Amino acid sequence: MQENTCPLFSKELEKHMVEVSNGQRPNIGNFCTYCFHPFQQINELNEINCEHCNTTIHDSDFINMVPEPIFKMLKETRKIERHYVISFAFFGIFLSLLSGFLMVLNISFLYKNEIFGTIILFTYLLISGRLLANYFGGFLGDQMGYNKARQKLNERWQEWTKIN
Ligand SMILES: [Zn+2]
Repeated sequence: MQENTCPLFSKELEKHMVEVSNGQRPNIGNFCTYCFHPFQQINELNEINCEHCNTTIHDSDFINMVPEPIFKMLKETRKIERHYVISFAFFGIFLSLLSGFLMVLNISFLYKNEIFGTIILFTYLLISGRLLANYFGGFLGDQMGYNKARQKLNERWQEWTKIN
């Protein structure tokens, strides 16, 4: 596995890209030559250090738009993260269903009292479904998806730096 050296995406860059993707602003501005961190205004100095990746940029070298492949990297990253969160949340719901039915089948009092058993089962499913989906999707899936997505992004970044 390669070392994670990818400087994408600064918060400001991500905000810019999301707004461009939503058609809320054009893809123009002043961007860092290395990490595409956006600069709101350029001061009168001839060079400036990127506050995100610390690259020194001469003010004539700023990049004026974020290239399309960088947009693809962001989309791919978000897609991987979403995929993990959703899959893990479904796994949580599946566990809730499985444990709920096993509980009713194994406690003969619940099994024999149809109405009471049903009420208990539904209450259990409502609560545990939510908790387990949250835990597996929102916590485990979120973390694993983030790591997986960063790894993929880093690979894409290495390819990008080779050709640029
Ligand atoms: Zn930078």
